[in-house]
Amino acid sequence: MEHIRCLILGSGPAGYTAAIYAGRANLSPVVYEGIQPGGQLTTTTEVENFPGYPEGVDGFQLMEDLRRQAERFGAEVRENIAVRTDLSTAPYHVWFDNDTEVTADTIIIATGATAKYLGLADEEKYRGAGVSACATCDGFFYRKKTVAVVGGGDTACEEASYLAGLASKVYLIVRKPFLRATKIMQDRVLNNPKIEVLFEHNTLGLFGEQSVEGAHVVYRKGEADERRYDIAIDGFFLAIGHKPNSDIFRPWVQTDEAGYIKVEGDSPRTGVPGVFAAGDVADPHYRQGIVAAGSGAKAAIEAERYLASL
Ligand code: NDP
Repeated sequence: MEHIRCLILGSGPAGYTAAIYAGRANLSPVVYEGIQPGGQLTTTTEVENFPGYPEGVDGFQLMEDLRRQAERFGAEVRENIAVRTDLSTAPYHVWFDNDTEVTADTIIIATGATAKYLGLADEEKYRGAGVSACATCDGFFYRKKTVAVVGGGDTACEEASYLAGLASKVYLIVRKPFLRATKIMQDRVLNNPKIEVLFEHNTLGLFGEQSVEGAHVVYRKGEADERRYDIAIDGFFLAIGHKPNSDIFRPWVQTDEAGYIKVEGDSPRTGVPGVFAAGDVADPHYRQGIVAAGSGAKAAIEAERYLASL
């Protein structure tokens, strides 16, 4: 069975930054890309707030660059997804979706987070037929059409603005009477004539023959002035937050109620010696590419110190 000194699970900014640091420290890191190679930034368009890019940078390009930088220092990048772990005793065991198993002295968990859905049966029914959680991936199909985006945070505002550049009309369905997004993102949405914000609205279901043709929505559900009606849409985009990808580590490392891995103070230490968590899988607060990159660097430094102490 293959033995790895520094195993990195996940290939977003946290995973690749950890790989750059671990590679430069001669730890021969092996990165498993996981479910979404390059992580969540590959599904955004322009990244405007990653330091070092005054003109902004394409999310996919940024991740390609990070990958190349990691490989330059000897990181080996593999395509597979970790499906099971045993972190009860070192060296730790990890199994992958291609039926391989490795042992590792140190593991950096950088598996990120995955988009949430509302939980409506219709989301399943129309998945790939009008329902999406990634405007940048699927927005192209909705040129000159009408779409709805659900959510009131930065992601929802960003996706609504992006889709407004393609579609003829965008509804933003917000359950509260206000947006949670940062002021700059709110302004972009509220000043865009193609975007109509439906405050205090919830989605009850979707309808359509082969694909989405509309949504059943409700205004002020449960209130005296509740109103139910349908909107005609061709696409329904979810932007209501993310779920951390921590399930396979859950028996061994502690998580909070939402599933985010708990770390010791502001370190990436999980409590299992040699196992560190970096990026969105351990960050319920900031969830930014640059923060994830920083925590990946910390995790690799910790891994190096841990290996030196053995
Ligand atoms: P958030 O958790 O910030 O927002 C989620 C939104 O979805 C909220 O408006 C929430 O409503 C709504 N929501 C959640 N569940 C439901 C539901 N079941 N039905 C209807 N609405 C629901 O997630 P984001 O993904 O927007 O952002 C996460 C983090 O990433 C934030 O820190 C954000 O600042 C950051 N980010 C930064 C960007 C940038 O700087 N360019 C871009 C994208 C994200 P409610 O308000 O009622 O809870």
